[in-house]
Amino acid sequence: MTIFEKIINGEIPCYKIYEDEKTFAFLDINPETTGHTLVVPKTPVDKLYDLKDEDYLALFTTVKKVMQRMETVFGSRALLKVVGTDVPHAHVHVTHLDPSWEYGKSLTLSPEEMQSIADRLKF
Ligand code: 5GP
Repeated sequence: MTIFEKIINGEIPCYKIYEDEKTFAFLDINPETTGHTLVVPKTPVDKLYDLKDEDYLALFTTVKKVMQRMETVFGSRALLKVVGTDVPHAHVHVTHLDPSWEYGKSLTLSPEEMQSIADRLKF
């Protein structure tokens, strides 16, 4: 079982942003920007192209909503990234053009700050 399946099942805690039948979105534990969110399909495939078309569409429908929410909350353009070298469960990173953003660098935020950001982003 992947670590993201454990998060989806509630076995590992997370700062949840959104959930529906096919997708799950939560804050990345090592955020590159405030609100750095991971959007994952509930089907635990390794690569995005392993998803069935309907699951791929569901994933990117959630990505779209998270991007819109990110821009509303932070007032800056949303960015997408797909890597997947650490966790073999397909996922899309959603960040935004925070002036302090640097590729691959993470912020140190307290649990209270993470919770407060999740509360602002969730929908
Ligand atoms: P990638 O596989 O795209 O290179 O990176 C995986 C991402 O998942 C990383 O940005 C990492 O911080 C995040 N991540 C790994 N384990 C956990 C976890 O247990 N909880 C959360 N919220 N994020 C995680």
